[in-house]
Formats: sequence, structure tokens, C-alpha cells
Amino acid sequence: MVSRTQETPRGGRPARPLSTPLALDDAHGRTATDLRVSLTDRCNLRCTYCMPAEGLPWLPGDEMLTDDELITLIGVGVRHLGIRTVRLTGGEPLLRKNLEQIVSAIAEFEPRPQIALTTNGIGLARRAEALAAAGLDRINISLDTIDRDTFKRLTRRDRLADVLAGVRAARAAGLDPVKINSVLMRGINDHEAADLVRWATEEGVQLRFIEQMPLDAQHGWDRGEMITAAEIGERLAELGPLEALDGRGSAPAERFRLGDSGHRVGIIAAVTRPFCGACDRVRLTADGQIRNCLFARTESDLRAPLRAGADDQQLAELWAAAVASKLPGHGIDDPSFLQPDRPMSSIGG
Ligand code: SAM
Ligand code: SF4
Repeated sequence: MVSRTQETPRGGRPARPLSTPLALDDAHGRTATDLRVSLTDRCNLRCTYCMPAEGLPWLPGDEMLTDDELITLIGVGVRHLGIRTVRLTGGEPLLRKNLEQIVSAIAEFEPRPQIALTTNGIGLARRAEALAAAGLDRINISLDTIDRDTFKRLTRRDRLADVLAGVRAARAAGLDPVKINSVLMRGINDHEAADLVRWATEEGVQLRFIEQMPLDAQHGWDRGEMITAAEIGERLAELGPLEALDGRGSAPAERFRLGDSGHRVGIIAAVTRPFCGACDRVRLTADGQIRNCLFARTESDLRAPLRAGADDQQLAELWAAAVASKLPGHGIDDPSFLQPDRPMSSIGG
């Protein structure tokens, strides 16, 4: 349970309607309704596809949004701009102090958004119940291997047992569904694809493989080295053929059953089968920047106007303008593609 001695961040302002109604529409017929909020750029793992062994220069404390500022901006999105889902991510969101209080403050907004968390699962065993009690609806836990040595090699930390305990605690706390995100790396964990599917079925969690994207801080991504969605299918052939279950709508994962084996799997083919045309996402970084795409090369600052006293109408107008200029696609396969300066851990995956 959330401790009564800890204060819920005040943040949210009185809910007055905007003088000019706004929505997060872009010029390509899409409307953003799904907000991804990075709560911190820090992390207690060092996944090789995400950050270097020594970590990164973390955001200075005074550049980070305070809890109140964060709740105020999320409130602008939910009350005025049509945001229906708020996903908390990072960096590692469980490292953010007051996470449970942040969740309960979001749960008080009207209309009440769906609240989701993407986490590496370390420390979740102790907190899943309090997070669910605070209003968390759904959780995605990242786990690329169930082999302890491979986990150590891939994340540079010996924490597999903590993550597995976190997965079980999430289920026990009633978070449903529990989704597992896995990135396959050639020669490291790609031989484990079928084992991961078997494990997920046994644990009662939904596994989704994500194609590795050019978002690592080291800029080491290599298109030829990436395990493609097609290759994932080949590695799962021992369980059965991939049979599509339904259209994915705006969801990035395509869902499949594996023949009559009883196994199911999702594949997020962000590179080889991009879903930009149906994208409904917008991102808020831990330092208060709106990004209209993971791969955007520009961002729009809401922190400075917020700190200068901008009201909800002004913040909503800035936010709507940021989304209006969203490009039609990420262009990873375009020869002119340039990786964004911010790595995934700082944007919020
Ligand atoms: N630390 C949390 C976690 O790992 O779930 C949240 C942040 S992490 C950046 C969010 C998701 O992005 C994770 O599922 C991670 O596997 C994925 N990710 C990180 N770098 C990636 C990359 N270069 N390509 C594809 N997915 C990546
Ligand atoms: Fe940390 Fe998540 Fe990046 Fe791994 S993927 S280093 S857990 S932020």
C-alpha cells in the first residue's frame, strides 16, 4: 500500500477547459493518444544494445522535472489533449523516487487514463503490489534471456534472479497482462528464442520480440547484424509456423500463434515492417522535452515555459504544435537516416 506519510505530488491544476479546444493531430492524419513519459535517464543495468559499460552523463538534477512539474504536464496531456494512456518508462523508472505517488496522482485525473510501466524488473518484487494498489494497470518487463550467464553478458550485471522474481510478483499483484519485451542479439541470445517462448507460456506472460533499433548511445547498431522479424520466425519454427492472430491496429506488436503448439508470441518489427502510419504515440522526456517520435531529431521544450509560469492553454498549444510537425515515418531504411542525438535510455523506450 502507498504509505500515508508520503505526500502525493500536488502537480495537477484546477481542471478548467481550454479557451480553444486542442488535440494532438499531425499533418498525416494521425492523433497521439498514448503518452510515454521518461521518469529518469539513469539505469541499474547496462544492456549492450542500449548503453555503454560506464553508463552515460546523466541529466543534472535541476534539469529534471520535479514530481509536481511532471504531474502538471501529464495533466495537460490527459485533461486537455486527449491522452488516454500514460506509460512510465526511462532509463529505469523504478529508480525514480516517489514512483508510487506519481502513479496515484495520474490515477486521479479525469478522465482516468490507463497507466502502464516499462521496467527491467529489478526491485519489482518488493513494489509490484504497492504499484498496483496505487493504480498501475499494466506492465511490460524487459527480459532478453533466461540464462544467467547470458544475462550477465548482455546486461553486464548478475541480476537475472531479481528480474524473474519481479515477473512473478507482477502476476501475483494482479497486473494483467504482464508483457515481456525481448531483444535478440546475434550470437548472444538469438539461439534462445524458442526457450523464451516456452518459458513465457509456462509463466503465463505475453512475450514480444523487438527488432533492435539504432538508438544505442554508442551508435553501434548495424542493420546487417540485427535479427529481423523474418529470422525470429525461422528460430521459432521448431515450435510451429507463425500464424497471424489479428490486425495490430495502432499496437506495434503483430501477434502470432505457433501452429497448434499452444504457444503465442508478439513481434515488434519496428525496422523491417514499420508501423509509423498508425502511430499514436508522443513522448515526454525526464527533462521536459516533447518528442513526437523515438527517432525525431528535434524536440520541443515545455520545461522552460512551465517554469516561466505558462498556463495550461499555453502549454497545450506548444505541445500540439510539436505533434503537428511529426514526420510521416522514421526513415531507418533511408540512406539519409541519421540516428537521434538522444539514446533510447534518455528518450524513454
Ligand atoms: N529500463 C526499462 C526497460 O529496460 O524496460 C525501460 C527503458 S528501456 C529503454 C525500454 C525498452 O527499450 C526495453 O524493452 C528495451 O529492451 C528496449 N530497448 C532499448 N534499447 C533498444 C534498442 N536499441 N532497440 C530496441 N529496443 C531497445
Ligand atoms: Fe537500462 Fe532498459 Fe537500457 Fe537495459 S534497456 S540499459 S534496462 S534503460
